[in-house]
Amino acid sequence: MSIAYNLEVIHQRMAEAARKSGRSADQVRLVAVSKTKPAEAIADAFRCGQQVFGENYVQELTEKAGLLGEGIRWHFIGSLQSNKVRQIAGMVELIHSVDRISLAREIDRQWGLIGKVCDVLIQVNISQEETKSGTTTADLLDLVRQVAELPHVRIKGLMTMPPFFDDPEGARPYFRELQRLAGEVAAAGIPGVEMKELSMGMSGDFEVAIEEGATLVRVGSALFGERVYR
Ligand SMILES: *Cc1c(COP(=O)(O)O)cnc(C)c1O
Repeated sequence: MSIAYNLEVIHQRMAEAARKSGRSADQVRLVAVSKTKPAEAIADAFRCGQQVFGENYVQELTEKAGLLGEGIRWHFIGSLQSNKVRQIAGMVELIHSVDRISLAREIDRQWGLIGKVCDVLIQVNISQEETKSGTTTADLLDLVRQVAELPHVRIKGLMTMPPFFDDPEGARPYFRELQRLAGEVAAAGIPGVEMKELSMGMSGDFEVAIEEGATLVRVGSALFGERVYR
């Protein structure tokens, strides 16, 4: 199937999930996850109107950004090492995966050096699987308070990755929990902190995520085809 066709189908499915849950389709944005896929595939999706792309690896992102030039809006969605933050400073519109204060401090430092502010989401590891990154539910509010102090970092919401389930319904409680946590953070009324964005849902479960309040869905294989590795 072509990327143009896949993109259309995904948008239809997103709109239907929004409609089902009484939300409007424009409340949910698609992040096209292009990790391991060639720059040509990104250019193809871009020509079809897709603007926001999510990458997981710093080197891969900087290479593709160099090849593709202006117009594309990059989101960083993978686990991020502090020593690589410098390479993406000013290049990405949103980092979905801030999960510790040391990382947030380095983002603050690097964006400060270029006189800009970086929008971030706090990643929460709701399932507490050891293989997944993310702060624990218990530590979330403390982390948000500390990150909120940093002048060059702005918290826009939360992100999570539930465990894998064959049936997307299995992920629903995790999505619901992220929505609840966002409410809890919002209620704390921390200055400068917004809980506008909920980044949740991937190829296998984005409709369920939308029903539970996702504003950003991160979809890779349903758009670009299966990945051979990673
Ligand atoms: C790879 C990846 C995705 C996309 O996964 P698909 O199942 O291919 O849609 C979404 N989010 C993160 C953090 C990823 O690493």
